[in-house]
Amino acid sequence: MSDNIFLKIINKEIPADILYEDKISIAFNDVNPQAPTHILVIPKKEIKKLSTTDLSDQDLLGHLLLVVKKITDKYQIKDYRVVINNGSKAGQTIFHLHLHILAGRSFNWPPG
Ligand code: AMP
Repeated sequence: MSDNIFLKIINKEIPADILYEDKISIAFNDVNPQAPTHILVIPKKEIKKLSTTDLSDQDLLGHLLLVVKKITDKYQIKDYRVVINNGSKAGQTIFHLHLHILAGRSFNWPPG
């Protein structure tokens, strides 16, 4: 298993502002927020990116989206954008799968 900063957050080796945690996933505030609300939802399983998942991850991937719903319900976030950057050209900098929840401002389409 390679090491990465999100694994360190999962293992509580470095601090994070954790908003939600269960057996499968953990969610915390992004340290460099790109919107007034910027939350990351990550699986505890080490997955580098969406394109490395397969059918065996079906339940896990569904779970992550339902965690997005749970968090946005809890914090009464009505309008939000969910982003997965897959690969460095798409903006991925941390190679542990994560969903960005962005909210609290307007967003352009198409994204930059
Ligand atoms: P991405 O560019 O899609 O790979 O997103 C990685 C995100 O992780 C960026 O938005 C970073 O600001 C965020 N990030 C990096 N290190 C930390 C950390 N220690 N705690 C919380 N968020 C982090």
